[in-house]
Amino acid sequence: MSRACRNCKVITEETACHLCKGTDLSDDYSGLLVVLEPEGSQMAQTMEIKKEGRYALKIR
Ligand SMILES: [Zn+2]
Repeated sequence: MSRACRNCKVITEETACHLCKGTDLSDDYSGLLVVLEPEGSQMAQTMEIKKEGRYALKIR
């Protein structure tokens, strides 16, 4: 089951976030943002996303 990291919002299939190594994950998230080029995406800049990947828009 995929979960979203509360710290950096990335969606991960693992038990810890693969970006920040944090374990504050939530399975209660909504929205999906796929970032391919963080530098070229206004949305990614706004959300302060630095790496490509799948991100949750909202985490409860
Ligand atoms: Zn994280």
